[in-house]
Amino acid sequence: MQNICILGATGSIGQSTIDVVLRHPDLYQVYALTAHSQIDKLLEQAKLCQPKYLVLSDSASYQHAKQALLASGIKTELLSGAQALADVASAHEVDVVMAAIVGGAGLLPTIAAVKAGKKVLLANKESLVMSGELFINAAKEHGATILPIDSEHNAIFQCLPHDYQYGDLVSCGISSILLTGSGGPFRETPLNRLSEMTPAQACAHPNWDMGQKISVDSATMMNKGLEFIEARWLFGLQSSDIKVVLHPQSIIHSMVQYCDGSVLAQMGNPDMRTPIAHGLAFPKRIDSGVKPLDFQTVSNFSFDEPEPKRYPNLYLAIEASDAGQYATTALNAANEVAVAAFLSGQIGFSQIAQVNQQCVAQMQGCQLDDINAIVEWDKECRSQAQQIISSYSREAR
Ligand code: NAD
Ligand code: MG
Repeated sequence: MQNICILGATGSIGQSTIDVVLRHPDLYQVYALTAHSQIDKLLEQAKLCQPKYLVLSDSASYQHAKQALLASGIKTELLSGAQALADVASAHEVDVVMAAIVGGAGLLPTIAAVKAGKKVLLANKESLVMSGELFINAAKEHGATILPIDSEHNAIFQCLPHDYQYGDLVSCGISSILLTGSGGPFRETPLNRLSEMTPAQACAHPNWDMGQKISVDSATMMNKGLEFIEARWLFGLQSSDIKVVLHPQSIIHSMVQYCDGSVLAQMGNPDMRTPIAHGLAFPKRIDSGVKPLDFQTVSNFSFDEPEPKRYPNLYLAIEASDAGQYATTALNAANEVAVAAFLSGQIGFSQIAQVNQQCVAQMQGCQLDDINAIVEWDKECRSQAQQIISSYSREAR
């Protein structure tokens, strides 16, 4: 029986994780569920999962939540605050941690799980983008197992040979990693209309049902950019090892190309329960509840290259991954601030990439030797991005 801590339980990945876990009561039990402030959803989940702990990261919601918990009659302990998140992620009773908080807020609890040597199911790509080498080194040092949940990285992991050695493509005969992406909802929108696109349009992804932030990132293809950086760290790749391929149907989740001409692809319906079940059970396989892929009904596969003018964020991320940690942390910070500003109507869709580009250009090189330095740099970059956004509103007045 494996004890699971689900960070970000109330989100899209968190809910899918609970769905898979509840299919296998003989294999998994839930130790803790966490959310930022959504107590009602968390209590509904607690009724089903009976965790030992519930954690709300937003301490301001604690009193209200405590009353709601009492009224519900559910027997579980309620904790709150950043330290409580790290505590449940590293508790000695826990075997597996699903890291599914969105954004930089996931960094510290995910690192806590890594440093406690847990099996970490990594959905929170931003934590790896922010901390790269430190994250990977901490996993090695503390014996943590990192299993990729992002569907592309899970696909690559499934297509790599079992004896793949970190960063050594040559001895396995691998010639390239093909990272696929759908191109999002604006793949065919005329370029001169992109700046008018609204949050509702950006969040209406054609194939995947996801949280708001990653949906906007998919529309700008910053998501693929973050995934490019994520793939470099997870598998020890150079940027020249990875090719980004547009595949609008989202049936192939990524591929590995070998020097003998073979290309291995992992396919399936676009449903995150597949990579979640794969990560949970690895190296075994369990039922995920995902419908089998029906080749009679899937549409024709097509492939294309992402246009730089349509997806400037993708190319910013590739450049940042070559510039180094300070640049990828800065880009991630700027992007989170810019996406929030877009969602709240402060800036337009095309300004997300402008904020990102300006912020990375203005926040030049610094050495980031430990997690505290990263957290500090992330804060400075967020504040710079806010200033850039404020300067836009001043210009508009
Ligand atoms: P979501 O917005 O649906 O859920 C986010 C979760 O994080 C919620 O439980 C929320 O309460 C919690 N949270 C938000 N802010 C927080 C804070 N400041 N402190 C602590 N907790 C906080 O997001 P999602 O779509 O489930 O994505 C989660 C992560 O998984 C992201 O990093 C995303 O990039 C990654 N991911 C998601 C998908 C997908 O299909 N949704 C696919 C691949 C990767
Ligand atoms: Mg993905």
